[in-house]
Amino acid sequence: AKTTGRDMALFYSMETDQRAVARQTMEQQLRRALERHELSLHYQPRLSAQGAQLLGVEALLRWTSPVLGSIPPSEFIPIAEETGMIRAIGSWVLQQACEQWVRWQQLVLDAGVGDAASLHPLARVSISVNLSAAQMSDPALVTDIEALLLRTGMPAHRLELEITESQLMDNAHAAEQQLAALKALGVQLSIDDFGTGYSSLAYLKRFDIDRLKVDKSFVRDMLANPADMAITRAIIALGHTLGLRIVAEGVEDLATAQVLSALDCEELQGYHFSRPLPVPELEAWACQHQPS
Ligand code: C2E
Ligand code: CA
Ligand code: CA
Ligand code: CA
Repeated sequence: AKTTGRDMALFYSMETDQRAVARQTMEQQLRRALERHELSLHYQPRLSAQGAQLLGVEALLRWTSPVLGSIPPSEFIPIAEETGMIRAIGSWVLQQACEQWVRWQQLVLDAGVGDAASLHPLARVSISVNLSAAQMSDPALVTDIEALLLRTGMPAHRLELEITESQLMDNAHAAEQQLAALKALGVQLSIDDFGTGYSSLAYLKRFDIDRLKVDKSFVRDMLANPADMAITRAIIALGHTLGLRIVAEGVEDLATAQVLSALDCEELQGYHFSRPLPVPELEAWACQHQPS
């Protein structure tokens, strides 16, 4: 049958309506997600390129809704940001991560009867937490984190905050002050998704940053795609010039890990080592993956 322009217009508006309803449903469900304990954190290991030692874990939000099923963060985080819910969610994430670190700190490996217990590999890690733009522009962020560190007893240098390039550049002056205040607490700072934003190299030098995370879009195909390889090499060289450590994210195979290691990239993260895991699985993984 022939579709008239009018039918098409109706079709499109129905589709738009459906999308609006889906979005509204998601927003309504998300509003209750925290109090209903539907949010959780998975943790993905970050390893040293030399020796594959477990250095840290990145906390990544997961939402399982009884109504909508499991929703990826790429779908619900933008809604949380637009609605302002990200403040409550973001501070929940920070608190969970710090409390988890303290629990790991208390873990020891039970080496068996008569043997001395040894430190659990997760007792030495840093925890990375992703900060949203709304958190970065929140004047209370620094005092909230300071209070959280005091309350949980987590040492500041074990907490690493990940922010994206665009968060820095959108309001560089405010970001500079916020980062300086965070740095004064002693936390570590990383630039996430590096290479995808419009970073100004002049600005980069002004921020007191510890790490650059090379975006996974470059890392994933770097062995097959010469441009991705060139960008990755350039980011590593630039970062080293500025005295930064480089993390490659999205490392999906051994060959990529080896090349990155040969390029002097210090730290690696990706499915080749582990997916983000719930706490019990991560604990099992960490015990099995101790470098000898
Ligand atoms: P991100 O911070 O860049 O996190 C890395 C994403 O890459 C994660 O996706 C992770 O599961 C995925 N990933 C890790 N290794 C590999 C790999 O080898 N290959 C591929 N293809 N992907 C890999 P996830 O968990 O879906 O998170 C997506 C994004 O959602 C995050 O990107 C981050 O921007 C945001 N996000 C997650 N949790 C939080 C949070 O607590 N707060 C905020 N503000 N944002 C969060
Ligand atoms: Ca991240
Ligand atoms: Ca990233
Ligand atoms: Ca990201």
